[in-house]
Order: sequence, then structure tokens, then C-alpha cells
Amino acid sequence: MPDGSIMDTHSRSFDQRDSGLPMVGDLPWGSHFCVVYENEEVLLEVLVPFLESGLKGNEQCLWVAPDAASTEAAAAMVANVPGLAGFSQSGQLTIIAAQEYDQTPEAVLARLEAAVARGRDGLRVAAQCAAGSPEPFECSIHNTPGDPNMIVACLYPCSGLDALRMTDVIKRHGFALLGKADGWEVIKSSAAAMVRDALKRSEAKLQSLFGSMSEGFAYHRIVLDDREEPCDYIFLEVNDAFERQTGLRGKDIIGRKVTAVLPGIESDPTDWIGRYGRVALTGQPTQFESYSKSLDRWYAVSAFSPHKGFFAATFTDITERKRAELALKEREEELATIYEKAPLLMLLVDEERRVRRANRSVLDLAGVSADLLNGMRTGEALGCLNSREDLRGCGFGPRCQSCPMKLAIARIFEHGASTNQVEVDRSLLIDGRQLDVTLLLSAAPVRVQGEPLALLTLQDISDRKQANVALKEAMAKLERSNAELQQFAYIASHDLQEPLRTVASFLQLLWKRYAKDLDEDAREFIDYAVDGAHRMQAMISDLLAFSRVGSKEDDFVEVEMQQALDRALSNLKLVLEESGAMISQGELPTVTGDASMMILLLQNLISNGVKFRGEDPPHIHIDARHEDGHWLFSVRDNGIGMNPKYADRIFVIFQRLHRRTEYQGTGIGLAICKRIVERHRGRIWVESAPGDGSTFWFTLPS
Ligand code: ADP
Repeated sequence: MPDGSIMDTHSRSFDQRDSGLPMVGDLPWGSHFCVVYENEEVLLEVLVPFLESGLKGNEQCLWVAPDAASTEAAAAMVANVPGLAGFSQSGQLTIIAAQEYDQTPEAVLARLEAAVARGRDGLRVAAQCAAGSPEPFECSIHNTPGDPNMIVACLYPCSGLDALRMTDVIKRHGFALLGKADGWEVIKSSAAAMVRDALKRSEAKLQSLFGSMSEGFAYHRIVLDDREEPCDYIFLEVNDAFERQTGLRGKDIIGRKVTAVLPGIESDPTDWIGRYGRVALTGQPTQFESYSKSLDRWYAVSAFSPHKGFFAATFTDITERKRAELALKEREEELATIYEKAPLLMLLVDEERRVRRANRSVLDLAGVSADLLNGMRTGEALGCLNSREDLRGCGFGPRCQSCPMKLAIARIFEHGASTNQVEVDRSLLIDGRQLDVTLLLSAAPVRVQGEPLALLTLQDISDRKQANVALKEAMAKLERSNAELQQFAYIASHDLQEPLRTVASFLQLLWKRYAKDLDEDAREFIDYAVDGAHRMQAMISDLLAFSRVGSKEDDFVEVEMQQALDRALSNLKLVLEESGAMISQGELPTVTGDASMMILLLQNLISNGVKFRGEDPPHIHIDARHEDGHWLFSVRDNGIGMNPKYADRIFVIFQRLHRRTEYQGTGIGLAICKRIVERHRGRIWVESAPGDGSTFWFTLPS
């Protein structure tokens, strides 16, 4: 079985066949010519090279001998010619007698198809006329329809032809080869020359058309396996566009098998060989779009078969379109996945409130299939109990009239308006159980394939709502207990002052009247008791001040911090004078807040700066600057400073770093400052080191 490997001889165009005759050169398919010879010896000069080049060119060759007797002679002759002998054994060259040669078009085509099916390029016939034959040999190619892959040489012995017949024979053929004693002469019939010229012109036109086509074009021969199944194909001709589109060069692939040019094509899912094979063997044209794995490109392919066993294919590179389509498809799939997997209930609904499409969450909730759900009214689909009051579905029951879902759908179809996050409380019947849910509904108009629809999204916020409720309750509780605590602190400190004053004044009375009667120890004890009572009085009044820091933002006004500072300094006049303190400052802004709180804040910080002074007279600097949407204030002193590890502790109520005997105080001043600043949505902190003074920073919104 030929495997097409001898196609390597196809360095020329597939249509141009080597005649084997130097005086003739290449011949196109469909050529027929006659040879008029004097004797057998002369005939063989033409016959042998003619057949030999056909055999080498992968053509099926047929030698039609004049009669049965001469077939034997011919066979004997072939066996002795080295160029022919092997081919006759392989069946590529057959010899038959003229009477066996059925010249009807069907029979000729059948012979041609059989040759092609066996992997041949075409058929080459040398038909020999019997000497003295009454009629010129009727050339089979005349009557064969289409454009058969055949070359026919009709061989006439001189002896059988008179001048008239000779002229007739030459006229009937493209040209004639006359074998004479001094060599061969080629005689062209004028009609044939004209036809050939016309053909040449149309071929040139065809070639330029073929070359300038924007579609890729390739012509191939199919290769069959032992079971006559297509197993490969061979490139015979390709145009420029084919080269551009595929990146394959004609000179590299013509005459080669596709399995060698594009390894792996035999397992390509497109089944190129199988598809083309069917076209080449059945003659049924085909059109398809396909991806070539080996070229990594998409093509729109149209294939047809001009001769059995051969096929031509045109290619349009549609890779860009295909990639865009694929990207679109992927995006669609992505969106569909999001739609399906979204934990939201999503429904596409028409003007009649009938469900057109619902996502998985809806189907899971409703516990029905998509088919069953489609066409149901929304309430029915979601299992709304109200919709059950009326067998016609939702939208008709008395309570449906004010249903937010119904209203949202109406808004869309009547006004094209969306609805955003409306709470819908519903009782649903799911799996036979009643479920009270709160759904957060949004609705938007959408167009699906040109049809206006409403896209409803529903989120079950029942759980979240219950949290929210718990949180609100806790907040209210906290506010209540805060208020109670404040009330308690106020009442306690206010009411405690009275008995405390009694204790202190009676102790003092005791001292005045009986001091002389008491011994030293007793007098000392009374001293301690009086001091303790005074300290307690101071703490209680500070606690009272602390509990009063509670103004609301609604009461805030514009406060000029310069004025607040002036008031604070005037309140501290005595202390400042006594200590010989120096006060300096930068420019201070106006803020929004509680004026008396601002005075208290500055007063506490400045008085601490004076109180916790070192050996030098106190120097306190007050400043402010704007940064990141707030004011940053600083109160810096040159006092004793502190260990930074206590920087947080000092803002806690009653926390002090010194004994009372060293520095007077209750430890509430900074707790009050912190409370004031936080009430104004600011922060307060200290930067300090022992012996290096301290800087208190606080922020206030600008
Ligand atoms: P009191 O001044 O009544 O002690 P404060 O709450 O005002 O209470 O201050 C708490 C503690 O923080 C003080 O006892 C002191 O140890 C420390 N402190 C406050 N201001 C300064 C300062 N400017 N320099 C050094 N230490 C300070």
C-alpha cells in the first residue's frame, strides 16, 4: 500500500505533471495527446519514459494494448525494463487489452477513484490502437465530466492512418507527437493551441485570484490505511493567505504528510483527518469552526472535494472573534455562578409578579425545582402565608395590597424606579412549618433579551435583627445604669458632706473646750480626726465635680480657647503669684465644646504643672496646632516629671504617684481632664521623664 512518501517528487505544483518526454515537458491534469509512430521500437521511445515518469509521480498507470496477444508481449517487455518492472508487480502499472477497456465516463471515473482511493495522485493512460483499426481511438478523456486527474496518450501506428485520418486524429487531441526517422516532431492543432492560450490566461487569472484571496486555501490528497480509512493527508498546494494564517510555509509542507507537519493532529479533538477524509471520499462538502491545537488558533473551515480522494479547504482565521466569544462566555458563566451561589434570594419577575427565574437560594428555600417555580407568583414561590389566603396566589389577598414586594414591583413597571433595602416582615410556610422572617428587599429594573423585568434581591436578616435588638437593649441598660450611677455619686457626695461637716465641727468644738483637760496623745488623735474629715470633704467635693462632667454634644458652643485660658489663669492667680510661675503660650484656636469644661481642663493641667514643680520656679507653656482634622493642644512644664510607665495610671480616679504629705491632692484632677476630653471626642496623654518636666497633650475635633 503506498503511504504517500513518494510524494517527495512533488517539488512542482500538484497540477503540473512530468510527461517524461523532454520535447513535451510538464503537462496539466486533463491533458491528452496522440502519438503517431512508425514501428514498435519508435513507440517504446515515448511509451517507456511516459509511463516511468507517471509511476514515479505516484500515478496509477494503465497500458491499453491493442489486443489480448499484444498484452502478453507488453508484459514481457515491461518485465525487462528496470524502470517499469517493479511497478507492474506492485500493481501500480497494469496492462489490459483494448476490448477490456470500458470507455464509458462512469467506468473511467470508477477506475480513477479506485486509483485515488489507493493513495495515487491520478491516472495515466497509454492507449494503443490496433494497426489498421477502422476508426481513430476514441479518447476516454473527452467524455469524462469534471476535471479528472488524468493524462491520456493515444498511440496510433502510421500504417493505420491515411492523410485525412491523420489530420482528424491530430485535431481531436491537444497535440500530436510524430515519430520520424530523424526524431520526434510536435504538432499542435490550431484549435488546441487556442484553447491552451485561453486556459493559460484563465489559469493566470485564477492564480492571481488564488494568491490574493484573503482566505487561506489549501489543496490536499487524503491518505488511507489498510482498511481504506483516512489516516493522513498530504499538502499539495497552498496560497499566501494560508501561509500567513497558519505560519506554515508552502515550500516546507508541499508534498508532506500533515502528521509530519503538525505532529499530534491525529489526536486533535476536531478530528481534522476524519472530517476531511469524509469530504474527500464522499464528495459531501462541509463547513465548521474549529480550534487547531497544534497551531493554537481558531478557523472557520469550508472543505470540498473536486476529485475523489482530494479535498480543498478554505480557512478564515477567527481566533480573535473566538477569543472574544470565549471571554464573554467565561464572564457570563462567572456571573451565572455568582448569581447561583449568592447567599441572597434572587428572582427575576415579570409585570404580573410571576417568577421567570430564581437562583439556587430561592429553590432551596422553596424546596421545589426551577421548573415548578417558574410562573409562580413571588409570594407563592417564597411560601408566603398571606398568599395562601387567596388561592389565586399573592397580590390579591387583603394583606397583599400593602406588601412592600408588590409595591416595589409596581414602582418598577409603572415608574422604572428602584427600591433600596426595605424591610419585609413575612410569615412563611416552609416544610409545613411557619417561619417568621425579616427580609431586606431591593428591587431594580433590568432588561433580559429586550424584555423589561424586575430583579428582586432578598436577604434574610432575621438573625441580624435579633442581635440588633439585643444590642439596643444592652445600650439602653448601660445608659440607665450610667445615669443612675451619676445620680448616686451626686447624691452620695452631696448628702455625705452634711454629716461630715458635723463630725469636723464637733471635733473642733471638742478641741476648743477640752484641749486643756486632755493629754498630748488625746490632742494628737483629735488632730488626725480633724485632718481626716477635711480630706474626706475635699475628696467628696472633687467627686462631685467629676460626676458633673457630663454635658451633651447638643449643648456645645463655639469656645475661644484664648478666653478659656484667661479665665483659668485668673482662677489660679493666687497660686501662680505665690509660686512665681511664668506662663507663656502660642496662638490658640476656637473649638466647639463646653466653655466651663475647657476652663476646668486647662486649670487642672496648669495647676498640676505648678504643684509638681522642681527646684526652679515653674514655667508652663500652652500651645496648639492643627493636624489631621483635629486640634492638638499641649501644656508643658519644667517640673519633676514622672516615670513614663505610670503614664496611663495617672488618669485613673484617685491614682496618685506621691504621698499626700509631699504634694497635696486627691488624685481626681487628671481623671476629670480625661473625662472632659473624651466627652469632646478627643484623646489625652502625657510624655514625661523623671526630672525632665511633663507635656500633657490633648486633641479636640476641628
Ligand atoms: P492630684 O494632682 O490631685 O494628685 P491628679 O489626677 O491631678 O491628682 O494627678 C494624678 C497624679 O499624676 C499626681 O498625683 C502626680 O503624681 C501625677 N502628675 C499630675 N500632673 C503632673 C505633672 N505636671 N508633673 C508630674 N506629675 C504629675
